[in-house]
Amino acid sequence: MRIERQTHCKFCGEPAPASYLALPDACVEVVRCGLCRMPFVSQTYDDQSARELYERVLDETTGYETFEPARSPRFRYLLDCVLPEAQVEGLRVLDVGAGGGGFLGMARGLGAEVTGIEFSSAARAHAVTTYGIELSALPVTDPAWDGRRFDVITVWDLLEHLADPRSFLRRIAELLVPGGRVAITTPAREGALHRVSMSLARLTGGRLSMLARHRYNLLHLQIFRRNDLRALLEDAGLTVRTLELISDFSYPGSWYLRTARIPDSLKRVLAPAADLYLQRIPPRNKIVAVARRG
Ligand SMILES: [Zn+2]
Repeated sequence: MRIERQTHCKFCGEPAPASYLALPDACVEVVRCGLCRMPFVSQTYDDQSARELYERVLDETTGYETFEPARSPRFRYLLDCVLPEAQVEGLRVLDVGAGGGGFLGMARGLGAEVTGIEFSSAARAHAVTTYGIELSALPVTDPAWDGRRFDVITVWDLLEHLADPRSFLRRIAELLVPGGRVAITTPAREGALHRVSMSLARLTGGRLSMLARHRYNLLHLQIFRRNDLRALLEDAGLTVRTLELISDFSYPGSWYLRTARIPDSLKRVLAPAADLYLQRIPPRNKIVAVARRG
């Protein structure tokens, strides 16, 4: 795998982004552009390296299947965000970064014609055995997708992982039929949770970085504000219809304690409180965006 350092801002091209926050425990440095002020992880990798990385990442992550059933109401909620008024039946839906196929399984149950892309072989195997859905391992940039068109493209929790989100969204726009919609969720660089996470890490010189390491790491390369995302969507020729902050956590609260540098006994004591926190007073941690072609 080849990791390189960004010498220019990946969003506006300005040279020499300045150091913003070092997170040695996550093996990354966050830099910030002096012109557009966008922070991003200084390390980046090419498409082939990204495929190698994500081929393995879910294979090595335990708990994916355990938590998937709990996500079913979340998938329904996301679908309602995308298609509040439309019939799902007969729509061609492409889910990019489809994971174990849970979202597509639900969409197909409502009559959609489903296609998915997923790099992790473990997740693809899960989609076949659980939902009978074959996911593709070819990235959207592959010429094999050139002639394909979709009514809806969903991009759940993926944009933060991409080395080049601008080119990705331009390609997504190409793959939509006129009037077709893309729906996105991605972590938000606004809201109390993000501010507390980053302030704790920056004020302690990276020592209190448990929360910040969930924001930025070798997998989470950038985190957007709503306006950043609006600019990227408009750059891709898309018209923004929805752009909101939501509470959306992929795991129970206690799962996020895994990487804390505290004794396991303390993690066990804190686990119920962490679960309860996300259940009862979930902070708004993500952006949901829906944009239309044409
Ligand atoms: Zn910039």
